[in-house]
Amino acid sequence: MKIIIVGSEMTPFVKTGGLADVIGALSRELAALGHDVVTFLPLYRAVRDKIAAAPCVSNNIRVPVGGRSVVGAIYELPVAERQRVVFVRQDEMFDRAGLYGEGDRDYADNAARYLFFSKAVAASIPALRFVPDVLHAHDWQAAFVPLWWSRTLAPAWRLRTVFTIHNLAYQGLFPARQFELTNLPPEYFGVKGLEFHGQLNLMKAGLLYSDVLTTVSEHYAEEIQTKEYGCGLEGLLRAHRHKLHGVLNGADYEAWNPRTDRHIAANYDSHSLANKVACKRALLDALGLPVERAWAPLIGMVSRVVEQKGYHLVAEAIPQIVTMGATLAILGAGDPKLERQLQELARRYPTRLAVKFGFDEELAHQMEAGADMFLMPSQFEPCGLNQMYSLRYGTVPIVRATGGLADTVQPYNPGQQTGNGFLFTAFTTEAMLAAVARALETFRQRQHWIRAVQNAMACDFSWRKSALQYLSLYQMP
Ligand code: ADP
Repeated sequence: MKIIIVGSEMTPFVKTGGLADVIGALSRELAALGHDVVTFLPLYRAVRDKIAAAPCVSNNIRVPVGGRSVVGAIYELPVAERQRVVFVRQDEMFDRAGLYGEGDRDYADNAARYLFFSKAVAASIPALRFVPDVLHAHDWQAAFVPLWWSRTLAPAWRLRTVFTIHNLAYQGLFPARQFELTNLPPEYFGVKGLEFHGQLNLMKAGLLYSDVLTTVSEHYAEEIQTKEYGCGLEGLLRAHRHKLHGVLNGADYEAWNPRTDRHIAANYDSHSLANKVACKRALLDALGLPVERAWAPLIGMVSRVVEQKGYHLVAEAIPQIVTMGATLAILGAGDPKLERQLQELARRYPTRLAVKFGFDEELAHQMEAGADMFLMPSQFEPCGLNQMYSLRYGTVPIVRATGGLADTVQPYNPGQQTGNGFLFTAFTTEAMLAAVARALETFRQRQHWIRAVQNAMACDFSWRKSALQYLSLYQMP
């Protein structure tokens, strides 16, 4: 098949979160399965140096954005056999320090930026000498592509459009007056179109005008049809459930494999767990925590510091977790208020809690390898990647049973010695602490712990399976 993938970030070019891992790995896997894949990305400042050699295919991609006619260029970079990445360049919009904003402020013109990007993608396809069978758009930044495609090119050019929701909490909401940037007739701004409680909702373009809808785990596909998780779109999603599918993300085991990981102190697998202890000692040392306490259980967290990830539960629970005998290491960046709270706790427990703020890929790998347990008390988690990485690194996950966490982590059962982690249901500090206590208790029972670690390391969430599921949706009659 000939497949177009459109998203706003992609490893190894530019990443702020799990979306980048997914676009990177899915593109690569589909090409490895023998399909021709073109992935579209905006040409951000952060990308420029990495693609200096990419030739310009067209410098005259012209699309309307409201009253303006905006010109962009496209650059094509071959990355593997059958796989290309096409970068859409428009320096006024994308040559900036951030992707979506700076500090904690979004760019004021994000609707214009991503509407331009989406329209430019559709307008670029004829220049690529590539007749696609499938157009697969991801998240609100690309949600407009299927709709624009169907309005501008569809009659001459039939293809299947697929839209994937990575996180329903980010819908691309903008003031109603920005609807004019879509260049759609006014009838598209209604409850049955892109309007959402008086605002413009760009994600609705993907939900309404794509042939197939997917989200990143089966559990989340069910959850988003309920009021608790539906972010106001549950009714619409229920109405479109016939085309909604859950496809669990895979983990990129080329990047995340303790046997070959170049970022960690010692490589290991389930037969050489002594080397995992070496990783733990190196991590404690790097974080300024006492290495002589390496015998104590170490709980790691790596994620955006936002309420969704359950940080307020963690902040409240830290004194008790410390009393229970564990050490904690946290890497993340996000909400300044939550960051301050964690910083204060780290000052209070300097030998038991280390927090690092910022985005640090290398340290993320070292945390996965060096920690004994990995905590993800998410309020919601469409798929979650870190628990899959943790499983592969034998770092037993403690998670809230929601979304993809519920699909990938099963409770350790000491009787049968089955299960790969520890779960809790209620989104409360007490429920989380009870799961942490169970994990710490199991840690003390050496044989059970080793079994839980080995069960974790035996799990396989490779991309091949997910890519095959997407292919069957691409080909569905
Ligand atoms: P989300 O997409 O909601 O942020 P995921 O668990 O799906 O959460 O993916 C997060 C990805 O971003 C993982 O690959 C994780 O390792 C990485 N990540 C998050 N925060 C940081 C950070 N501060 N430093 C390095 N990597 C991070």
